[in-house]
Amino acid sequence: MSGKYIISLDQGTTSSRTIIFDKNQNIIAKSQQEYPQIYPKPGWVEHNPQDIYNSQYSTAIDALLKADIDPRDVAAIGITNQRETTIIWDKDTGIPVYNAIVWQCRRTADMCEKLKKDREFAEYVRLNTGLLIDAYFSAAKIKWILDNVEGAREKAESGRLLFGTVDTWLVWKLTDGKVHITDCTNASRTMLFNINTLKWDKHILEVLNIPECMLPEVRNSSEIYGYTDKFGSKIPIAGIAGDQQAALFGQLCFDKGDVKNTYGTGNFILMNTGDKPSVSKNGLITTIASSIDGKVSYALEGSVFVGGAVIQWLRDEMRFFSSAKDADYLGSKLMSSEGVYFVPSFTGMGAPHWDMYARGAIYGLTRGTTREHIIRAALEAIAFQSMDVINAMAADTGNDIGTIKVDGGASVSAPIMQFQSDITGKRLIKPVIAETTALGAAFLAGLAVKLWKDTDELKNSWVLEKTYEPKMDREEAGRLIKGWNRAVQCTRMFTEQ
Ligand code: ADP
Repeated sequence: MSGKYIISLDQGTTSSRTIIFDKNQNIIAKSQQEYPQIYPKPGWVEHNPQDIYNSQYSTAIDALLKADIDPRDVAAIGITNQRETTIIWDKDTGIPVYNAIVWQCRRTADMCEKLKKDREFAEYVRLNTGLLIDAYFSAAKIKWILDNVEGAREKAESGRLLFGTVDTWLVWKLTDGKVHITDCTNASRTMLFNINTLKWDKHILEVLNIPECMLPEVRNSSEIYGYTDKFGSKIPIAGIAGDQQAALFGQLCFDKGDVKNTYGTGNFILMNTGDKPSVSKNGLITTIASSIDGKVSYALEGSVFVGGAVIQWLRDEMRFFSSAKDADYLGSKLMSSEGVYFVPSFTGMGAPHWDMYARGAIYGLTRGTTREHIIRAALEAIAFQSMDVINAMAADTGNDIGTIKVDGGASVSAPIMQFQSDITGKRLIKPVIAETTALGAAFLAGLAVKLWKDTDELKNSWVLEKTYEPKMDREEAGRLIKGWNRAVQCTRMFTEQ
């Protein structure tokens, strides 16, 4: 193995990024490019697959130029990606038959509501894919394209169309159509992959009428899938994981019981549950954390739809301040929100409540309520929502969860992190490297080409930046939690007719 560097491609929902790491996990170069969001109708979200590839490719070239390294010194490429987003293209021409339908897109909500009515099928899906039937996952998006794009179904049935999540599309493009694969973590987000047998689920494919021949081959998260010659040298593509699973890996959550929380636009909490899938009784989903040398690790996952986005809302829509950083300052002027609670369920509630009829609400307003109270309540809401997911994980696994590893844009907020620690009574630890998602993909690729020998070699590399310890007394925490629970209760089902 001659190469010293790993190129990590991080294909996100609003931008494509590339980070080049060296063996010691130093960031050698970074590049980022936004690309257009397409909203054809309210609630619909699409991307042009060519934009996804082109923006990703140009950031990789840009990062390589900035790094000023010989491409022959690149050991491997790792890929991490927005999950569930669905692309279908013509096998011969490489041209997509429709835009990418993005994970956020709600166009298949009605289709999913109908599917859910068959309780037996819903339970089958839950036990075999780990997921709840929902428009987020790829399956209904594939069906929508086959049902709505003229000629698509016939072409798919005769083996002329290919489906892929974003990782699959990038690998196919980078290998000039030679390799049509995905990894277990991405497969586990399609609602078509059986997480027990580790095969595409024939029963679900039959019910949804999706031809198996269009699906990619499912591989490990860490292995050489193929080679690309698009960067001036023949480089192996050797690691893939969906963004949240990559972050879990990048946080070195390799052991059963390890938990990470990524605070971005939403909050994504994942717990490694070891080598057996654990089915939630508390509204969490089961997913594959990684698959290395055929050894699969599972995770429980809970997502909070509106996390840092509540701060964006106060900034852009309420115009309370001009930068997210100001929220920390203004919110910290008060020691508490003094009875004000903000439930930011703008698009309904995710885990563990799952209520699509809920909408955002602010409670406890008095004549003395100020802008600062509302900001403080918004910061606290980010932590309260994560607490609900963490409690559900603890209840599902019987694991008390001592420590939580944190990352993501809003994890720089000391008031949110301290309140999170206070309200859960748990220790939070934050690593020096904030780029855990890109790092996770780099680790997976580097392990496959033996830049790193094994996960034990990586374990020592997690470097602490900051710890948050609970300081609030438990009685006070209990009082605040009671108020939060009441606010959540009042918010549920608000728009149900
Ligand atoms: P994503 O990857 O989902 O786009 P990021 O990890 O970049 O998100 O995090 C951005 C989010 O973090 C935004 O929603 C922003 O409002 C929030 N955020 C950033 N800095 C702060 C801060 N100091 N305090 C509170 N929220 C913040």
